[in-house]
Amino acid sequence: MTARITVLGAGFAGLELASFLSESLGTQVDVTLIDAGSAFVFGFSKLDVMFGHQTFEAVQLPYRHFSKPGVRFRNDKVTGIDPVTRRVTTNAGTYDCDHLVVALGVGYDHDATPGLTEGGNEFYSVEGARRLRDVLPTFSRGRAIIGVSAAPFKCPPAPSECALMLHDYLQGRGVRDACEITMVLPLPSPVPPSPETSKALLAAFEERGIRFIAGKRVASLDAKRRVAVLDDGTELPYDLYIGVPKHRAPSVVEAAGLTENGWVPVNPRTLETKFPNVYACGDIANTGTPKAGVFAEGAARAIGTALVAKISGKGEGSLYSGAGTCYIEFGAGRIGRVDVDFFSGPKPTGQYHEPSAALRADKNHFGSSRRARWFGL
Ligand SMILES: Cc1cc2nc3c(=O)[nH]c(=O)nc-3n(C[C@H](O)[C@H](O)[C@H](O)COP(=O)(O)OP(=O)(O)OC[C@H]3O[C@@H](n4cnc5c(N)ncnc54)[C@H](O)[C@@H]3O)c2cc1C
Repeated sequence: MTARITVLGAGFAGLELASFLSESLGTQVDVTLIDAGSAFVFGFSKLDVMFGHQTFEAVQLPYRHFSKPGVRFRNDKVTGIDPVTRRVTTNAGTYDCDHLVVALGVGYDHDATPGLTEGGNEFYSVEGARRLRDVLPTFSRGRAIIGVSAAPFKCPPAPSECALMLHDYLQGRGVRDACEITMVLPLPSPVPPSPETSKALLAAFEERGIRFIAGKRVASLDAKRRVAVLDDGTELPYDLYIGVPKHRAPSVVEAAGLTENGWVPVNPRTLETKFPNVYACGDIANTGTPKAGVFAEGAARAIGTALVAKISGKGEGSLYSGAGTCYIEFGAGRIGRVDVDFFSGPKPTGQYHEPSAALRADKNHFGSSRRARWFGL
């Protein structure tokens, strides 16, 4: 009988896993890929939308273009997951399978930061980035804060990229001298696994007069007084607040009993959950690696190799390497790069590559190669 695999979530992890299974097994496998959205959007595209480098429409990669032998895409909202029977319930029906992969990413808990909705903005959702595109032109003088509500958060360099891009944006409009930029991060440095990358980012902040507050999170906003309150009680007045909300697992995953301390515990090398034939990968899984697309994709491929080995009865799957490359916007069109490796040594390491215009082509290729592989676009 053809093996039935259900993949929940068509983000970085789900798209890569479904593509890998289709390439490896074709119609020998029966894959159902489920996502509630109508299109995939790269995380970094949110920065492009927010600063007006790309339109909202241009960054949408509609799922109608995702077409792979052996894979059926279902545009459903997952409403229930039974990890024991591997039965998934959606707004449109039920799905039973032999192997279940949960790759539903993370949601945002705006209420965990009182005042954020009334008094601030966020750039981590496409809608938030789209709103900021209209808010930013109204900010021409005063204090801007880029603040993070809690760790862990997706793509640890993204708030730093946002600060550097905001500097360029304000400079381009000729108003930078009338504005202050402060960044508040709950990490000890901008990119903890790579001291060299952190040093370069700190130097870039200093050159541009960006104030960096490390090891603190934004606990609340007082929308009336326009003040951000940090977890140690420090108050920072602001005219523009650009935030990263607290992340949390989608409620359907919590309700399924798959989470512990907020995330899905997995074997970090095989991505297996405690339930037989149920895997979790990407931002939702607690592997100890960063919440970033490149890691989600690597973990998905490891699951793919294990499933191909099981289904074909040949060989063994490969383990998740916990390594990946992140591109970092340093402003002025230059891109830096850090290659991070979480599993091969006693502690995580990061190799830094200086920002250059040439690395922009590499980052563009990162996006365009996935766009072509997953969507044929
Ligand atoms: C500003 C920003 C910049 C970033 N830059 C980078 C970068 O440069 N490089 C990088 O590697 N990563 C980057 N990231 C991080 C990256 O976007 C995420 O880590 C990655 O998308 C995680 O992949 P995933 O498959 O786990 O989840 P996602 O890609 O979030 O996919 C999860 C999917 O599940 C679906 N879903 C959720 N709940 C349900 C439900 N109940 N029913 C049906 N479907 C559901 C969602 O619609 C979504 O499509 C960035 C993120 C942000 C916010």
